[in-house]
Amino acid sequence: MTPCILSLTEEELTAELALLGHKAYRARQIREWVWRRRARSFDAMTDLPPLLRKALGARFTLRPSEVVELAGSGGGTRKFLSRMEDGSLVESVLIPAAEGKGGMRAERLTLCVSSQVGCAFGCKFCASGLQGLERNLSAGEILGQIVTAEDIAGARIDNIVFMGMGEPLANFDNLRQALEIILSSGALNIGARHITVSTSGNVPGLKRLTDYGRPIRLAVSLHGVTDAVRSRIMPVNRRWPLGKLIPALKDWCAASSHKITLEYILIEGINDTLGEAELLAGIARDLRAKVNLIPYNTVDSLPWKRPSEKQCRSFCRLLVSRRIPVTLRYEKGHDINAACGQLRLRKLKE
Ligand code: SAH
Ligand code: SF4
Repeated sequence: MTPCILSLTEEELTAELALLGHKAYRARQIREWVWRRRARSFDAMTDLPPLLRKALGARFTLRPSEVVELAGSGGGTRKFLSRMEDGSLVESVLIPAAEGKGGMRAERLTLCVSSQVGCAFGCKFCASGLQGLERNLSAGEILGQIVTAEDIAGARIDNIVFMGMGEPLANFDNLRQALEIILSSGALNIGARHITVSTSGNVPGLKRLTDYGRPIRLAVSLHGVTDAVRSRIMPVNRRWPLGKLIPALKDWCAASSHKITLEYILIEGINDTLGEAELLAGIARDLRAKVNLIPYNTVDSLPWKRPSEKQCRSFCRLLVSRRIPVTLRYEKGHDINAACGQLRLRKLKE
């Protein structure tokens, strides 16, 4: 696959240019075109010598994918499907949301990015894992989703969640490289507190993320409060059960100034009893975490259902009564078939 210039730090680009016989200031010039002026072709970089533009075009891509489907419109949630150079399909979701209170309200633009094509973890309720893992996305392909989203929205993304397809911590090196560019003031320049990595509980990956030490946020897909339930719906739990996951989360918490988010999908008859809400409150208290309840988004070909709204609200109320910070979030992409892995699944079946 052609390397993507989006994935290079200034030092890496400088080293590449040195190999081509160019001075370091060219790297700054190119990054200015790539990140500030958002050039869409190397030919547009008019203050570079034509031979350098040609050499860059032969060596790198500027956009690693093309958009093949765009769903949703205007001010609401939008999702797009990108086709990579090798034909792989990847989905990303753009979510505008108001943030803050009273006169301080501001529109934030969140992008939910994918980190892999498919997923090896095979959670039973998830469309992304149905066909297993095809491959990791490169750092350029992760960053390409962000730049493409900004092209579509005509605005800058200011919040990134790694909650699309794939398990980001199973693609750690590319995740870290993408994070460096996202955080870099000469590139995307998004603050660490506006970046959330979500994991299904990949313990070695969590340790690496803790050691990486950047003050980003962490979300954990818990979805079950006992090993029996969790292993039933998330095979990853057999490898890293709660007894291993929770200490790794405590290590993260000790090193982080943000609360972690426990994601909890509510699935009818599987994990939605008030007894489980009580256990969830205990885990959240122990970790000083907040809880995000997500009524299950049905997936064609899977048998799982979302509980009644009444049941979801009772589950939520129990956590509130235990003073756990909790939100009950009806999946924003539901109306446009936009939840995790679902647009790709539909396209693959076409
Ligand atoms: N692999 C990581 C990152 C993906 S995040 C992880 O699992 O955390 C995607 C989130 O959407 C996860 O919390 C996942 O459990 C959840 N999810 C998957 N399928 C869903 C569905 N059908 N309805 C609601 N949430 C779903
Ligand atoms: Fe993979 Fe996350 Fe889906 Fe599980 S929930 S299959 S880890 S993407």
